[in-house]
Amino acid sequence: MLLQNVACSAYGWNEARHRLGSKLDRNLERLLESEWWPRGEIDSFQDERVAEIVRHAYEHVPYYRDAFRRAHLTPDDVRGVADLEKLPVLTKEAVRAHEAGFLSGLADRRRLVLRRTSGTTGTSLHLYASRDAAALQWAVWWRHRVRFGVRPGDWHANFTGKIVVPSEQEAPPYWRWNLPMRQIVLNMQHLTPAKIEPIVRFLDGRRLAFFAGYPSILHAFAASALERGLTLSSPPRVVTSGAENMHEFQRRDIVAVTGAIVTDQYGQTEACGNASHCERLVYHEDFEFGVLECVDPEPLPDGRVRGRIVCTGYANPDFPLIRYDTGDLGVWAPDGRHCECGRSSRVLVAVEGRVEDYVVTPEGRRIMRFDYLFKDARSVKECQVVQTDRRRLTLRIVRRDGYDGRDEAFLRDAVAEWISPRLEVDFDYVDEIAREPNGKFRAVKSTLDAAA
Ligand SMILES: [Zn+2]
Repeated sequence: MLLQNVACSAYGWNEARHRLGSKLDRNLERLLESEWWPRGEIDSFQDERVAEIVRHAYEHVPYYRDAFRRAHLTPDDVRGVADLEKLPVLTKEAVRAHEAGFLSGLADRRRLVLRRTSGTTGTSLHLYASRDAAALQWAVWWRHRVRFGVRPGDWHANFTGKIVVPSEQEAPPYWRWNLPMRQIVLNMQHLTPAKIEPIVRFLDGRRLAFFAGYPSILHAFAASALERGLTLSSPPRVVTSGAENMHEFQRRDIVAVTGAIVTDQYGQTEACGNASHCERLVYHEDFEFGVLECVDPEPLPDGRVRGRIVCTGYANPDFPLIRYDTGDLGVWAPDGRHCECGRSSRVLVAVEGRVEDYVVTPEGRRIMRFDYLFKDARSVKECQVVQTDRRRLTLRIVRRDGYDGRDEAFLRDAVAEWISPRLEVDFDYVDEIAREPNGKFRAVKSTLDAAA
């Protein structure tokens, strides 16, 4: 136990050195100022940075030099954000196929950090980030937290998928201290109703500033606590999540247990774009870090548009990603809409997750979110919507006590009313819903394209 605490702290110290160093403080200070810039200043900043990264990529990065030449483009053709559309969209596949080709000739390889990420298929993608890029990314993430009154150095709980306390351990402590990072680490394997009571009691006595984690892992904590009728009497000020979509059933349970503000940010390991909630829980593009383009826009009511989130990051010139297709969909507010918080950066109304995560109805409608189905189905602990056939839908459900035939009838009616009366609904009751190879929870899974 003691050794594990030490190992955990040692890992934390190395991380802390480059996460929480003076570079982080300086970056954070700058970001807390720039977030209030007027729109004109934001636009010229982004135009300048885009032109700069494109020129750098053309001159020093083999992949782009070839790609731009093939497209008969030179850096003079890209003077700002509006010119990005002249460049081809970069797919994950292309990065995977040419990994070394994305390294800048100017990069100091000893100062690069390897990052691995994987798609839903589990195939891994290797990227490099400079320490400067990592420090800026961490500052962006910290700015999000600062908006809710927490500061670097505040004690917090980190809910993780990494096995910190071995799964087979059957007695508390189900947590580890990480002193340099000032965090208590809890891994998801122990967030079960059987083990949740000592965990809730332990956390409740700590006066933690915030909880952080994937929505699905924070939700595992909340759902288990609810099942045992437990809530926190001294809750954290805020719960911050990221890396997956937060679904309404998850938010509902997390709020019920913590009574805290639940806030989210959108970003990727690829470190080329980010958006974070403001105090009004509205996503703002973190424009100092990269551009989030809306590609293949589909108009929605009230001037909103839905499109693919394509990112150009300018914080990582050693391994630049220009017009990188994240595979996620976003919904943008009408241009020029001002958020009540007073910031002028671009606003996203929603981040809808991966492009393949939708259901197609027999009428041909595409449906991405199912939150409204489960809003009133309180006996549903977790649900995944699965489609393998155009005429059928399977609701894979983890039930709570009290779930009965009425819930099934309610959900069947709700699908008929909200999605399609022509869809057959099957129910698949399970003890748990498996995570993807990358550890993430998927609320919608469709195999339709593969089947076709
Ligand atoms: Zn705002």
